[in-house]
Amino acid sequence: MTGRLRNWAGNIEFGAARVHRPETVEQVRRIVAGAERVRVLGTGHSFNPIADTPGDLISVAGLPADIRIDAERGTVSVAGGVRYGELAERLDAAGYALHNLGSLPHISIAGAVATGTHGSGVGLGNLATAVAAIELVTADGELVSLRRGDADFPGSVVALGALGVVVRVTLDVVPAYRVSQHVFEHLPRAQLDAHWEEIAAAGYSVSLFTGWAGDTVDQVWVKRRDGDASAPAELFGAKPAGGPRHPIAAMSPVHCTEQGGAPGPWHTRLPHFKLEFTPSSGEELQTEYFVARADAVAAFAAVDRVRHLVAPALQISEIRTVAADELWLSPHYGCDSVALHFTWVPNNDLVLRAVEALEEQLAPLGARPHWGKVFRHAPRYPRSADFAALAARLDPRGAFRNAFVQRHVLAE
Ligand SMILES: Cc1cc2nc3c(=O)[nH]c(=O)nc-3n(C[C@H](O)[C@H](O)[C@H](O)COP(=O)(O)OP(=O)(O)OC[C@H]3O[C@@H](n4cnc5c(N)ncnc54)[C@H](O)[C@@H]3O)c2cc1C
Repeated sequence: MTGRLRNWAGNIEFGAARVHRPETVEQVRRIVAGAERVRVLGTGHSFNPIADTPGDLISVAGLPADIRIDAERGTVSVAGGVRYGELAERLDAAGYALHNLGSLPHISIAGAVATGTHGSGVGLGNLATAVAAIELVTADGELVSLRRGDADFPGSVVALGALGVVVRVTLDVVPAYRVSQHVFEHLPRAQLDAHWEEIAAAGYSVSLFTGWAGDTVDQVWVKRRDGDASAPAELFGAKPAGGPRHPIAAMSPVHCTEQGGAPGPWHTRLPHFKLEFTPSSGEELQTEYFVARADAVAAFAAVDRVRHLVAPALQISEIRTVAADELWLSPHYGCDSVALHFTWVPNNDLVLRAVEALEEQLAPLGARPHWGKVFRHAPRYPRSADFAALAARLDPRGAFRNAFVQRHVLAE
């Protein structure tokens, strides 16, 4: 393969001189030790050059999945390149579950964890918070194990691929549970502002979809666990949808996970899209910002102020919540967060104009961008300096550094 490899969205052409797909950890170790500059590629679902390198790019998708459940410890250990959808099916069949999932099951576990990928839920941390241990191949080709409780662990989970190749991940599991999904439509915007906390907490996992136009929010997707209170007949003025819905009202809901309140296994309801549906590529870009959940209404007003610049680039926005964690480079470090997501049309000029306007408006709220999506500026994190010191220790020759990490994390 050559440097013509592209990401899922097609907006990034990787500049790697060589692309490798090793089938054993031994091979990973040899490639890393022999490479001057090296990065890892997961499933390529990020929208920026975070995974790129001018040197050697390693995909770990060829390593055997080797899924091992440890019932006593309540964990599963799995190769880093495995996709959430595959792991979820294996876990559910064995009577286990993860605490949450992102909107798409096609994303690799190590890649999602490396960027702090999240689902929604006021009580639910991002997907990296389920990580109990990792094994990574560091720049000298050594295999290093880190587990929760180790001093370096909180800096090594959301690590943007800057510390080494994660070949194995151990995740916390819980007993399998069932989830039902209801979609409500046309939530009055005034009700959202007045009752934001109650709406965000209306289910185990709640997502709102809006085009920031008019005086209603298009849809509220409420995912409830078995045992939760039954769904209300109406949600602060929003009415139950008359049938299945796609987040973009004009699109067919055929690939969306089942709605209408029928309970089903956790992994068939928590993502918005079905695993067996391979999403088309190149038709969208994405951006997402996180601010404190307590500042959500101020953040909505900030978006309103630049609606005229956002609208030309926007397909749909999703509003979610993520619980605080202690992972140094997690966008949710120390902060119960609201996530403001923007699915854009694939037009760089329009998107950059909207992104610049949003960043100017959201900066006073201390907004942090999603590491895997389109953004211009990331603020320094409280533990950025500790992360830089950890990177210098685990990777003294800077093999895993790239322009993205240098600019957004390591630069003074
Ligand atoms: C359609 C779509 C839906 C999405 N939905 C969500 C969502 O619901 N929630 C959300 O938060 N995000 C979402 N995202 C963003 C996505 O989850 C992140 O970009 C995630 O990082 C992608 O994982 P990946 O495996 O494709 O990683 P890549 O994009 O391939 O890589 C991302 C980073 O992870 C590193 N990495 C990958 N594998 C390894 C490894 N084995 N060892 C060390 N580092 C590694 C790379 O070096 C890079 O720095 C979505 C993206 C798309 C395209």
